[in-house]
Amino acid sequence: MLDILIRNAWIIDGTGEPEFIGSIGIKSGRIVFVSKGTKESDAIKTIDGTGLFVCPGFIDAHSHVDLTLDSDRATDNFLMQGITTSVGGHCGTGYAPVGETDFVKKIAADWNCTLRWSTFGNWMDHIESLGGTGINYVSLVPHNSLRGAVLGSNFTRESTPAEIEKITAFLRESLDAGAFGMSASLDAGVPGHFAGKTEILELLRLLTEYDAVFAPHTRHHQNQWPSNGPEETAYGLYNGPQGETVTGRYHGLLEVLEYAMAVPGTNLMISHLTPLYLVPHPHPAYVDDAIRRATLEEIIDRPSAQGVRVSFNALTLPYSISFEMNIADAFRPERMILPEWLRGLSREAFIRKLEDTDYREKLTGFLISGRFKFDMVCPATDPYWCKEFVIQHCRNKAVEGRTPYELALEKSPHDRAEALYHTVFEILYDIIRDDPSATWHFIEDRRVDIGQLAHPMGMVATDVCGFPGKFPEGRPLPGEKVSVCAYNSVPYYLEKLVKTDRAMSLFEAVRKLSSLPADILGITERGRLQEGYWADITIIDWDNFKTSHDFDAPATPTRGMEYVIVNGRIAYEKGELTKVCSGKLLRKKH
Ligand SMILES: [Zn+2]
Ligand SMILES: [Zn+2]
Repeated sequence: MLDILIRNAWIIDGTGEPEFIGSIGIKSGRIVFVSKGTKESDAIKTIDGTGLFVCPGFIDAHSHVDLTLDSDRATDNFLMQGITTSVGGHCGTGYAPVGETDFVKKIAADWNCTLRWSTFGNWMDHIESLGGTGINYVSLVPHNSLRGAVLGSNFTRESTPAEIEKITAFLRESLDAGAFGMSASLDAGVPGHFAGKTEILELLRLLTEYDAVFAPHTRHHQNQWPSNGPEETAYGLYNGPQGETVTGRYHGLLEVLEYAMAVPGTNLMISHLTPLYLVPHPHPAYVDDAIRRATLEEIIDRPSAQGVRVSFNALTLPYSISFEMNIADAFRPERMILPEWLRGLSREAFIRKLEDTDYREKLTGFLISGRFKFDMVCPATDPYWCKEFVIQHCRNKAVEGRTPYELALEKSPHDRAEALYHTVFEILYDIIRDDPSATWHFIEDRRVDIGQLAHPMGMVATDVCGFPGKFPEGRPLPGEKVSVCAYNSVPYYLEKLVKTDRAMSLFEAVRKLSSLPADILGITERGRLQEGYWADITIIDWDNFKTSHDFDAPATPTRGMEYVIVNGRIAYEKGELTKVCSGKLLRKKH
């Protein structure tokens, strides 16, 4: 007697081969047969697969699910996307090892997490002791934590040889416990930003010994501004020469390739790959296309041809990881270094200050100084930043759904510089003065990079943590940081690339969501529909498949996402979460 029989379905086995009609039997968490044609068998549950596509459960190559596993192990938003396994601990960020660190303590405080472990192995044991998670969790040990564990808060410098030895020992402990690799962030404001080449190469040598992946968030990932010195780096402020403001992203990518070439055998998975350069608008679309092609050729294809093991993951939605934000709060973000006259003001106090024309002028000067970013955009490096926000809710309905850029051009139609460097700020000051609760969200005014997402070595990054399947009032509160892509990254990827743009076949898209990440990360017995493999399975109704991206209701389920099965148990069925938490903490087998 089977637990589940799926009969008469289109089967996409995840290897990149075209679909065939067949049946799949599941028992005790495993796939016991995959057969062509119809195969009848007694089962506790039979799913009639007529007209449906059965795929390996999707593997999300890049997430931050680890940040919320301890507080909410259900991982609803991942299951709702057909994801059965997610690779967490990315971007150098996570809760272990703890060691001497202030850095991990700060992250834990930001997420209301109580640290009840010390080493990375302890952390994995803790997650395992929760008694199951919604999805399977694949962990990367974060380099910032490794470094912070040894250097403590004194991290704005290179490590000594003795410290490198200790950092390496922490990495070895993590890999012995079953981590699948190490993530890093070489970007500004974090311990990894200050790691020297000797340290990185030493860690890569150990990773290679374990055939474990190296997943860097590269330097200057988002355009940013030079700081006044190492002690002053923070979000948006890097420690380095002025020239990197423009060319930094490119050099950041070359840097990790250089590391990978210095340690042969390195398994390099570049995090959320973006084009080499950011070119401010306005410019013709072919400039974007040329930069994107050059990015893939130079960063992926040519190094691959030279024998470098390089792959990447990428975000799929033009909204990035954006969510509904209070506009007034966007002027005083906590993670940035703000001048005294702006720091620590309540929303009300800040808005009161906007009555003063001199204060407005001073503020505008600061916003365009380079030392400030709105969410992920720096007005100094990207003057057209104001095309990338849409006003979501405002008492003045006339501005809803519009960008500050449009509103500014209307007011200063004959002087674009005036519109970009002055009018747009005045408009925003007026909006928040009239409605302190006005909100906006970020939408990158650049097309989704189809060529990049369709590349044979490109995988999907959700880049999010866990969120509930429903919100108490039907929508998250502004400031809850719930992004549309938290529920939509994978469905949108399939819909956009396969259905709308016909950039690749469904079976190729599924390969990039299953066997490709499994093979690159070394996740065994998953990522394919094959006898003996764990029964992680996603079933979709492709004809009726449709995503929703509603910033007011990000948790709207994707239509046509029929079943999600994790380790042989149904976790999601036609819009309903079963909350079985049949996912496991996976450990890499060495
Ligand atoms: Zn990142
Ligand atoms: Zn990330």
